[in-house]
This record gives sequence, C-alpha cells and structure tokens, in this order.
Amino acid sequence: MNQATPTPQTLTDKISCQSDYDPNAMTVSRAQDFILSLLEPVDGIERVFVRQALGRVLAEDAVSPINVPAADNSAMDGYAARFADISGDAPARLKVAGTVLAGHPSPAALQPGEALRIMTGAVIPSGVDTVVIQEVTETDGEHVVIPPGQKQGQNIRRAGEDLRAGHPAIVAGKLLRPAELGLLASIGAAEVSVRRRVRVAMFSTGDELKSLGTPLAGGDVYDSNRYTMWGVLTRLGCEIIDMGVIPDDPAKLETAFRSASENADVILTSGGVSVGDADFVKTMMTRLGEVLFWKIAMKPGRPMAFGRIGKAWLFGLPGNPVAVMVTFYQFVRLSLLKLAGVSPVLPLPTFGVPVSVNLKKNPGRTEFLRAALSLNEQGQWTVAPAGAQGSGVLRSMSEANCFIVLEHERGNVAAGETVQVQPMEGLV
Ligand code: AMP
Ligand code: MG
Repeated sequence: MNQATPTPQTLTDKISCQSDYDPNAMTVSRAQDFILSLLEPVDGIERVFVRQALGRVLAEDAVSPINVPAADNSAMDGYAARFADISGDAPARLKVAGTVLAGHPSPAALQPGEALRIMTGAVIPSGVDTVVIQEVTETDGEHVVIPPGQKQGQNIRRAGEDLRAGHPAIVAGKLLRPAELGLLASIGAAEVSVRRRVRVAMFSTGDELKSLGTPLAGGDVYDSNRYTMWGVLTRLGCEIIDMGVIPDDPAKLETAFRSASENADVILTSGGVSVGDADFVKTMMTRLGEVLFWKIAMKPGRPMAFGRIGKAWLFGLPGNPVAVMVTFYQFVRLSLLKLAGVSPVLPLPTFGVPVSVNLKKNPGRTEFLRAALSLNEQGQWTVAPAGAQGSGVLRSMSEANCFIVLEHERGNVAAGETVQVQPMEGLV
C-alpha cells in the first residue's frame, strides 16, 4: 500500500539528533519542549449550545454578525446635549425637551438650545454629540444648567466599539470560560463549533494497589492516583476511559495497553517506570510501542516514560502520588491543552514572592515544593513550604495552595529571598 511514503522518523531519531540529549538527565524545559513539538491537535468538531461550550476549545473563529453595541448609546445617566450649546466659558442653561430610555426610541431629534434627559444604554438621538453626567448638573425639571469644561463626544459608547460586524469576536483555539459564554451570547450565537474532547485512557499499575471498597491486606495501599488523575482530567475537559488497576502481570498489561491504544488519544499510567520496579510495565511499553524512558532532573517525579503506542500518545508517570501530580502539571497538562487545540499553549503562570524560611537546594535539578502562600502582618504575600515534602505525602499536597519552583541552576535559598511561585488553586 503506502510503499512510496518515506518511513516516518522515530521518536528516538527525532530527539537523539538534538545536541546533548541525555535520557538520564533531561531538564524539565527540554522535556516540555520536545513533547510539545511532536503533538498536533485532535481532529473532530462538534456543534454545541453556548452553555455546553464551557471548558471546551473553540474550533472556528466566532465571527460577529452584528456591531456591539449595535448603535451609539449613552455610557451614563445624565443629559444629552449639542456640544456647540455647552462649549462656552459660562454655565449653559438648556430646556429639557424629554427623556430617552434604554430600549426605547428617542422622542425627538434634539434642537439647538435643548437637552434631553438620557439613561445609560439609551440610543443617542440625532443632533446629540455629548452626554453630561447628571451629578454635575442642576435642574428645576424644565431646565438644566450645565457647567463649562465638558468635552465633545464624552460619555458616548460608539456602535461597534466592542465588536465590529464581520470581525472575529473570539478566535479559534480559545478555551471557553464564563467571559466567552457571555461574549458569544452578546453576538447572538446560540451554538458554537468546538473541538471534540481529548480521549484519555488511564490506569494504575502495581500488585499492591487496591480499588476502593476492597479490604487492604498487609502491604496494600488504596489506588489514589486514579482519583487525582480523574480530577485533573475532568477539570481539563477530557473524556476519560478509566481502566482501573492493572496488576504487574504481562498478559493483563498487554491487554490494557492494546485496548487503551485502540480507543484513546492518550494513555496515562502511573507506576512501574522507576528503576527498581518489576520490569513488566516498561517491557510492555517497549514491546507494544515506541517509548522513551527519561530520568528528569526534577524533584519530585524523576522517572517518566513518553512515547506512542499505535496512534495514542503515552505518558507513563511515576507511582508516587505527589510525583504523579507534579509530572502531570509540568508535562501532561500542557500536552493535553495542545492536543485539545488550545492556542497559544501557555505554561502555568509563575511570579516572585519572598520566602519566609531557608530552603536547601542542590543545583542541577528543578525542585517543586508544595507550599502555602499567605499574607503576613504587613499585608504582603509570603510563601513557605507546606508540611512534609516526601513524594508519597499527599496530605501536604492538600495543604498547599502553590508550588515553589526552584530553578535548575539554583542552590540554597535564604529566608527573605525571592522565589518563583506557581499557584495551584483550581488545579489540584
Ligand atoms: P512505583 O513507581 O510503581 O515504584 O511506585 C512508587 C510508590 O508509589 C510505591 O510506594 C507505590 O505503592 C506507590 N503507588 C504507585 N501507584 C500508586 C497509586 N495508584 N496510588 C497510590 N500509591 C501508588
Ligand atoms: Mg509499582
């Protein structure tokens, strides 16, 4: 069949031609860049009602069929006037010829020497070029006195000032938030084109893992990773295929990987990729697909597998519950956004905050500390690590509201120095 098509370059070819590639010392940013450079958004578009579009990714520009606002209208409650009547150095006394309300036509065009009482949102009547806020005026009901110093055109919102007919109100690639739902409604769009959700098949691996509802025998732990992963995937708007816990058994792992690769865009696993692990997971990944195993220069979350099995991208995360979350936020989140068609894909924002305690740090790896941002007595934000930092300690993840990100080259940090902070509210 496709014999004329050149053999696609393998992932190994693609990355090993990059200078100083070392799978045993990948930096966080190098791994992020490499993964993102390979991924393309999934195909498939759906039409959904505006409310169903929350959290989805716009597939085509939403072009406004109308000007917004549709007509020049008043930005304030006050008096509509002709600037020529009120531009003198002395207060101007004008006859109040009527009232214009939002949603109602103007009673009449404005004549010289007259003003109209006008409400916010009311269409500007012909003859009017300036609106004066009512707070600076004086009136006896029949006349209004307007002080000097007004500016021509003030307090008028122009037709099309917000959106112009025929122009995109929102461009494709936007992740639709509440503001966009309102914006779509403001242009009269009842339905919108969004990309289909990214399908993620996930499972946990390990003989020691038990599902909820099963009693624990000695040495067992409950499978918590599938719950944190379910949470973050749901928040990212993915379609989730939850495949449960797969024991360290080659036949069962093979069936799980094959089924996942046939049904999903992404396979997300936890456990079985560290050096000491019973090798079944890694062996199976290598047998069924093309997978790179990285030791990433980061803490926590050192081992990670990335590659593809069939048409599905594979992220093999470490097993430790915190390492799973950190690697998810640093690598998988960006990848899922790119696959979902979000453009541009931006990393989580970071900003500098003084840290309130000394921190130990070895140069040569990026460290992510679970931390709490808080306000000190002077009303300034400071940050400190939250609880024990072992990579299995999920409780401190729950106590944290941000990560302190200590950069690759950085050494020890003294109290009072600025550190980069990545808020996790709404993410974890
Ligand atoms: P592994 O990466 O498979 O060597 O696992 C590292 C540690 O994380 C071990 O202590 C595992 O018991 C634990 N672990 C692995 N998977 C999970 C999971 N799904 N839920 C909770 N703990 C896990
Ligand atoms: Mg394991």
